[in-house]
Amino acid sequence: MKPIKPLHKKEKLIGYTMLCPGCDELHAIYTDYDNHPNWSFDGNVDNPTFTPSLRVRFHDGKICHSFIKDGKWQFLNDCHHSLAGQTIPMTFID
Ligand SMILES: [Zn+2]
Repeated sequence: MKPIKPLHKKEKLIGYTMLCPGCDELHAIYTDYDNHPNWSFDGNVDNPTFTPSLRVRFHDGKICHSFIKDGKWQFLNDCHHSLAGQTIPMTFID
């Protein structure tokens, strides 16, 4: 079981998806996707670290902003959801 699920486009690995416990939905992080912002991944699929931070902005203006480090979500204080300011272990999805 892994906390991240590989994301492919035309059989090329372009990134990963992970289940955000604050938003209760999947967030995608691209690591090798042309013409998109890409993140750096430490290659640890069990306890992943991505840099820089992930900031998701929803249509209604709500924000989810986190660091993903050593298999944990570190939610920053500008998150709209109730996990703002908390560090939460990632959920297995794959
Ligand atoms: Zn989120």
